[in-house]
This record gives sequence, structure tokens and C-alpha cells, in this order.
Amino acid sequence: MLYDLDDTLYSRSEQLSDNYTLSDLKAIRVFPGVLDLLQRTATAKGEKIIHVLVTKGENALQQQKIEILGIRHFFHKVFVCPRDEDKKSCFEQARVQFPMDNVWVVGNRLDSEIRYGKELGLKTIYLCHGKYSKSIPRDAYEVPDYEVDRFEHAAQILHRGTI
Ligand SMILES: [Mg+2]
Repeated sequence: MLYDLDDTLYSRSEQLSDNYTLSDLKAIRVFPGVLDLLQRTATAKGEKIIHVLVTKGENALQQQKIEILGIRHFFHKVFVCPRDEDKKSCFEQARVQFPMDNVWVVGNRLDSEIRYGKELGLKTIYLCHGKYSKSIPRDAYEVPDYEVDRFEHAAQILHRGTI
């Protein structure tokens, strides 16, 4: 499973201001349902679940967020990339490194995670939350397989989808 970080695993829009600094990060907390989902290591069929984080931003800040959220140890791989466009290549690299049949992408950007996931033929869950929640699909690649307004609902879909 491929996850975005900001406004996907925690509420970037509600918990940080536009001009946040390292010292503002102390208060961030994951959404309900995130830890339960990340703790899953196998499907009902006994297949190993691979968790990969793909996040855009300044490396030191993104790494610090991951530390404060207490989620680093759940991930087999963390990609921090400088631009949204780089996420597609991170998704591709993750698939090469961890060949999986049943790959899902969870993100809050139609024009980034959802688009790149669909272009690669992956299953997509759009978390409609925060700054980009009013986005409209520009074409079929930006129409997600599932749309939810809370992470817990994404987790329910993933539970069903990986059984
Ligand atoms: Mg995001």
C-alpha cells in the first residue's frame, strides 16, 4: 500500500499553519484509524502487507513529521521527493522494490497521488480532506476508485480490499 503523508495520515490543514516551522510540528497527531491499519502486516490470506510512504516536501521537515507521528517503524520504505510530479516515479520504484499484486494508493490530491496511481493501474482511495478537498477531476485519471472524507473509511475499504 502506498500512502501520502500530509492531509492523508494526519491533518496538515488543521494542525499546521501555512508558514509552520520545525517547532510547530510537536502537536501533530495521526488520524484515527491510521495506527490500526499500519499495524497490519498480513492479509487474511497470509500475504505480507507492504506499507510505503511517499511524501513531497523538504526532507528534514517531512522526516521530523514522521518521527513525531510515531509511524516510521511501520514503513518498509519512505520516499521524500521535492515535487508532486516526482511521486509517480516513487510509486514505480516502490513497485520494483516490492512486487505486489494488490497495490492501493491513498492520498488527498486528485492531480497527484490519485492521477499517478491510476496511470500506473493501481487502486486509488481519495481522502477528501483539507486544502485540496474542493478539487475537481480534470480527466478520467483523476476520478478515484473510492472517495472518503475520513481516514477510517479508507481503512475499512483497505481491510475489505486486501482480504
Ligand atoms: Mg497530501
